[in-house]
Amino acid sequence: MVELNTVIFDLLYLLAAILFIMGIKKMSHPRSAVFGNLLGVVGMLIAAGVSFAIILENESVQTNTTLPLGTIVGAIFIGTFFGTMLATRVQMTEMPQLVAIFNGVGGLASVLVAAASLLAAKEDAMHVEVLIAGGISGLIGAITFVGSGIAAGKLQELAFFKKSIPLPDVIRHFLNLLMLAGCIWCIYAMAVNGDVAINFIGICILGCALGYTLTTPIGGADMPVVIALLNSYSGLAAAATGFVVDQPVLIISGSLVGASGIILTSLMCKAMNRSLLNVLFGGGAASTYEEDGEVYATVIRTSPEDVAIMIDVADRVVFVPGYGMAVAQAQNAVSDLAQQIEERGGTVEYAIHPVAGRMPGHMNVLLAEADVDYSQLKTLEEINPDFDEVDVAIVIGANDVVNPEARKEGTPISGMPILNVDDARQVVVIKRSLSPGYAGIANPLFAADNATMLFGDGKAMIQDISTALKDLD
Ligand code: NDP
Repeated sequence: MVELNTVIFDLLYLLAAILFIMGIKKMSHPRSAVFGNLLGVVGMLIAAGVSFAIILENESVQTNTTLPLGTIVGAIFIGTFFGTMLATRVQMTEMPQLVAIFNGVGGLASVLVAAASLLAAKEDAMHVEVLIAGGISGLIGAITFVGSGIAAGKLQELAFFKKSIPLPDVIRHFLNLLMLAGCIWCIYAMAVNGDVAINFIGICILGCALGYTLTTPIGGADMPVVIALLNSYSGLAAAATGFVVDQPVLIISGSLVGASGIILTSLMCKAMNRSLLNVLFGGGAASTYEEDGEVYATVIRTSPEDVAIMIDVADRVVFVPGYGMAVAQAQNAVSDLAQQIEERGGTVEYAIHPVAGRMPGHMNVLLAEADVDYSQLKTLEEINPDFDEVDVAIVIGANDVVNPEARKEGTPISGMPILNVDDARQVVVIKRSLSPGYAGIANPLFAADNATMLFGDGKAMIQDISTALKDLD
């Protein structure tokens, strides 16, 4: 007969799985995302609590538990300590790096759990499908671990991680195929011959090497796709480990992360006008743009007072936020200025590029934080046809997402859809200097006939415009 405890534990696992699904659903809107996150946290607490209770129960029943309780409590304590420290200290602009690190650590955890389970079991007692799942977990987990580390380094803009692999693309692809074939062979050997330890180690080493060779050449505008893909990989690795340790809630949560990551990857590819194969195997495009000095020969500098006069007579103003708005934490100042413009009879909208900032939905989250009405946020498809009717476009800390170089062939951002701010009657670009954006290329918009540059910190400049606008009364 099935024991009552087992039924209760299974029901609690089911509840955790339902909470994960509801949490993901709530994540689809910035306003409900925080609640969605909370549901996920509660689900995870229940799942971890039940796993803990099962271990406790087993320990009281059989004394030969493989892992002492103290080790588990110690591991939870260390994880909680580092997790809390990272989460409370990280700046909002560093969240993408933190997410990349979390993905990587998730991948590593899947590898370690699968390894422990495979190595502890008696080889002749293991089913082929469990061995295959273990191999897949080792491969995807190792790729995720190394790939996410490299992605975090690239997002942190560390020079070491910006370097590509000094090999022609054909040789690189050939090496990748060779390593993948090696992994498949190891999984086969493990499943058929049962030499678990040596083959699993082989899979992990080749997986780490693949993580390096696949992620290192990708950069610039293609990073959002990589981040979403690695997120999906971390889920797939966890789901595969779920099969190894026979843990349905891990299979469900891993599959959810894997599936939502794939959906996000596909959305990011669409937003960037790229195919996934092109991102993964395309290599870096050689840029053909001129020297910065030539591009910026006709740049015109403006002042907060002049911008205030410009927007005072404007009927329609569009803010175009980018990564620099997040750095400056200028969202509340922007929202206050928008309110001032509306009180003076103007209309205000926000043009949101899908990859503006450093993580999907970055700008939406920041503007929601500043209580900007969601109906004022316009997608690229909605606002682009209207830019020629916009009186003033105020670009705040955005660069790549408004760079007309994307319309040319052979630049690192070629083909990426951009916000056509250069069609607006007047453009004001607020940033601290003429330095390039994440893709590292010059931006001819800054020197366009209808554009002026307001140099300075995003928040300070917006506040100065607000003050100057008040002074006009
Ligand atoms: P960019 O990185 O292209 O440009 C940001 C600009 O902000 C810089 O040129 C910088 O210029 C300016 N800036 C920085 N700090 C401040 C400040 N305090 N005040 C005012 N300006 C500031 O950002 P975009 O949002 O235009 O483009 C995003 C880029 O990031 C794309 O290339 C995208 O592919 C990539 N990316 C996006 C991800 C996503 O998921 N959204 C993930 C990973 C990468 P200056 O230093 O002169 O002030």
